[in-house]
Amino acid sequence: MKAYVVDTAALRENIHIVQSRAGQTPIWAVLKGNGYGLGVVPLARILREEGIDRFAVTEVSEAEQLRTQGFSDEPILMLRATSDRPTLEQLLDLKVIATVGSYEDAVALNGIAEQRGTVAEAHLELDTGMGRYGFSAQEFDKVLDVYNYMGSIAITGIYTHFHSAFCDQAATQAQFEAFRALLGRIQAQGHETGMVHCCNSSALFKDPQMKLDAVRIGSAFLGRLSFRAKTGLQRIGSVSYTLLTLPTTSR
Ligand SMILES: *Cc1c(COP(=O)(O)O)cnc(C)c1O
Repeated sequence: MKAYVVDTAALRENIHIVQSRAGQTPIWAVLKGNGYGLGVVPLARILREEGIDRFAVTEVSEAEQLRTQGFSDEPILMLRATSDRPTLEQLLDLKVIATVGSYEDAVALNGIAEQRGTVAEAHLELDTGMGRYGFSAQEFDKVLDVYNYMGSIAITGIYTHFHSAFCDQAATQAQFEAFRALLGRIQAQGHETGMVHCCNSSALFKDPQMKLDAVRIGSAFLGRLSFRAKTGLQRIGSVSYTLLTLPTTSR
């Protein structure tokens, strides 16, 4: 038998370290991968007890677990952009903030919200070097189209994701600057950018100047940072083996 034993005192201590690092900046607790293996709801409960009440997920099922198990009002942000209609319908049913990462995503979400006679809340995802997620700088006109023509979407935030904050400070800085430049261009067109965010765990600990309006934290809660030693974060789990003694057969 194998079990993952969680040291919840260490987990709470890590949460406090993240909170002191974030200061007044709101924290989106990322619960992807079944709450980094701890379980979405158990991890969310501990986070909420410690005062963190915004959650980010990458699967609809994770949002559903939260909504059906005691998290009816907390903001939930879906980090995976999609134009899949059934998925978007579910996100709206669950009152989850969607991510719009392409013009197709925006058209789909806007259409569904319009049909329902509602306005869907979304964050825009901008690609600043990851190469896969979000609007690229070349598609900038399409970002403006979302603001100008998608009347059933309310953009309440904008984010980007750093691909190598844990190891490459120069690349991260370049992404940060690209992000700020894009935000400046959106503002220059007279649009509100809402809550802007880019930091994952590594970026928050390496360069708190990048905090902006919010941070998105997952692995730091579990002490899973390659440079953990310098942060005071602790590992929170260990695998324990229970040896089963089998009766010896005698014949
Ligand atoms: C996983 C993820 C995070 C959190 O990253 P950590 O390094 O675990 O803190 C933040 N933002 C996005 C988009 C993610 O996918």
